[in-house]
Amino acid sequence: MTSPSDLSGPRAATTSNSTPGRIPGRRLLHSPGPTHIPDAVLHAMAVQPMDLADPRVDETIAACEEGLRRVLGTRDAQVFMYSANGHGAWEAVLVNIAAPGQTVLMAGTGHFSEAWALQAEDLGLMVQRTPWVEGQPIDTGSIEAALRADVARAIVAVLVVHTDTASGITSDVPAIRAAMDASGHPALLVVDGVASVAAAPLYMDAWRANVVLGASQKGLMVPPGLAYVAVDARALAVAQANPMPRHYWGWQLRVGAQSYRKFCGTPPETLLFGLRAALGLIEQEGLEAVWARHARLAAAVHAAVEGWREAVNVPGVIDFFCPVPAARSVSVTAITLGGGHSPDALRQVARERFQVAVAGGLGPLAGRVFRIGHLGDLNEAMLLGALGGVQAAMDVLNIPHGDGVGRAIAYLSRSA
Ligand SMILES: *Cc1c(COP(=O)(O)O)cnc(C)c1O
Repeated sequence: MTSPSDLSGPRAATTSNSTPGRIPGRRLLHSPGPTHIPDAVLHAMAVQPMDLADPRVDETIAACEEGLRRVLGTRDAQVFMYSANGHGAWEAVLVNIAAPGQTVLMAGTGHFSEAWALQAEDLGLMVQRTPWVEGQPIDTGSIEAALRADVARAIVAVLVVHTDTASGITSDVPAIRAAMDASGHPALLVVDGVASVAAAPLYMDAWRANVVLGASQKGLMVPPGLAYVAVDARALAVAQANPMPRHYWGWQLRVGAQSYRKFCGTPPETLLFGLRAALGLIEQEGLEAVWARHARLAAAVHAAVEGWREAVNVPGVIDFFCPVPAARSVSVTAITLGGGHSPDALRQVARERFQVAVAGGLGPLAGRVFRIGHLGDLNEAMLLGALGGVQAAMDVLNIPHGDGVGRAIAYLSRSA
């Protein structure tokens, strides 16, 4: 057995108590955000800050807005960008569409829906929650029932996390829209696309989502620090009438052509240059090809889990967190680890010995799962390297497993 202290040393670059050493090659980053940054994006960000009157600033902002609209599947939605992370985008939406005492309906997806609900409560909003059943996507029936029961029309919006990054589960937004329509309730549909945008299909206009929000550091392949919301005319009208006090996050101050105003101050120029480049890469590959690549690489990870869980001669201790194959996301796979084995020990060996960084469990899944992120700037070789590193760490820790890597190779060699 390897003890944690054996794992530090000159090659352990990022444990908090070790001196950074040189890591030959690249460490494979398989957290579900932040994700790898393509070289073209890094290079695009290697610029000096510029005068706000420099035409490159306005040009870049316009290109980002237009590119985001394309990636989100919307023709006319207004895009607002913030120097913020996904939590900032959450808050931006909440303070614009609801006021203290008003109610939002939070569709239960697990850790992320609960974190967003707590934020809403801190802002003085009332949150009605639909139940989360572990391992399952959003229950559309409970959304329809909650809206039908709301005869006073107190609910202003239904908040939906498209892909919950903690569980690795993607919910069916068109089915949620259909449930809302069936109820006849006028609530807005707000979609958190932080972990799904530019990984899984998302069509804001066709799905009639009134707001979609996201952040830069996941499928968009840009460093953390840039958030955005896309807002349709109905949601803008709700914001217009909303008495919630707000300034920095307020949409009303950010409309108009002036870049200084759009950002309520200085735009994050460097990240915008990166985002423009990343959106260009997505365009070049083709959005549908990007989605198809994510689906293919996710299926390879799923094949690996099917292999790992079939340990020879011993009960398997590895399994999918999500038992519903169709609900497993293309962005991240949550994998349960039982038999007294520690997901965090596995992560540490994978990271420090094999240079593969995977994520742990969040909230109620802490200590129960590890998560392999597979979104953003990835290809087959990177993915197989990551799966190989994880499988090697299982060997080091004597975790019984079948040949997941072999299954992934077999899957990829059959799929084009
Ligand atoms: C990562 C994530 C967030 C939070 O984003 P931060 O940038 O970490 O604040 C919110 N929602 C989802 C679905 C996420 O995956």
